[in-house]
Amino acid sequence: MEKKVSCGCGNAEPVQQEAPKENWYLPYMDQKTKGLEVEEKKSPVAVFYCAGASNVGQSTMLASVKAANQVGYDKAALLCLASISAGLKNIHNGAKNAKGIVAVDGCPMQCALKTLQKAEFTPEKSFVLTKDFEIKKNFDLNSQEDIEKIASGVARGILEVYQGS
Ligand code: SF4
Repeated sequence: MEKKVSCGCGNAEPVQQEAPKENWYLPYMDQKTKGLEVEEKKSPVAVFYCAGASNVGQSTMLASVKAANQVGYDKAALLCLASISAGLKNIHNGAKNAKGIVAVDGCPMQCALKTLQKAEFTPEKSFVLTKDFEIKKNFDLNSQEDIEKIASGVARGILEVYQGS
């Protein structure tokens, strides 16, 4: 992202604008849903993760945060899956208004994907950690096995959806 700035001498130099470091899209959609005025911005890809009570479930959350940090919050937004089941309008609108949707599930039960489909969303990309990253499911909630590898894969998926490929 580039913008022109001037020191006042008349010469405008292009400088690199920093990508947002926060998950801004969620409060932004909350404001919009409430009908409050916001500065319109380009939509990022919405990422939903199952955050299940197993090693792979917890890894969906840890890896999605790392992936969003890698690609930047101008391209990725983490949204609350439970709010979709709860029928919260701000998150529903967030998913609807997003550039695309990525679902990240721990195991073949695919709770994130099914929750989204039940709400009539069709994610452009869906990951299952046990299958796509060959992680064996167990119930050690502190295990962070292959988080970097998962995060890089999810980050690639987000960028593909963002770029429309
Ligand atoms: S997809 Fe698997 S790990 Fe995730 S919430 Fe469902 S059962 Fe748990």
